[in-house]
Amino acid sequence: MRRVSEIASFHAHVYFDGPEEEAAARALREGIAARFGVRLGDWRDGPVGPHPMAMYQMSFAPELFGSLVPWLMLNHSQLRILIHPNSGDERRDHLADALWLGPPLPLDASALAEERIEAEPPGEVNTTPTLAP
Ligand code: ZN
Repeated sequence: MRRVSEIASFHAHVYFDGPEEEAAARALREGIAARFGVRLGDWRDGPVGPHPMAMYQMSFAPELFGSLVPWLMLNHSQLRILIHPNSGDERRDHLADALWLGPPLPLDASALAEERIEAEPPGEVNTTPTLAP
């Protein structure tokens, strides 16, 4: 059995397509920043790496999973979100061991490392939450 301690961090990738979803994604990003200590990644207007659609990512510590993920479940509206562990096995983390909110999207597996990599830590928090989840 694998151990939970293999998970150094989680990512949540918020995808959007078209102006309506983009507006919802922007509102969700502000809602996250106001409530959770995460590392918010760059806004991407098109596909990048294995991600087939415009999106942004947040990186967060495993301790936050129990509050952030339920909050995303209740607040993602029509947006699709991929939540995956970072355990050092990119392929498995993204393709086999991930959760989706909303219908899953096909990821480009060729952009994911075949070999084990160092599991990515959550990174420095760049939000200053002031609201309760
Ligand atoms: Zn990711």
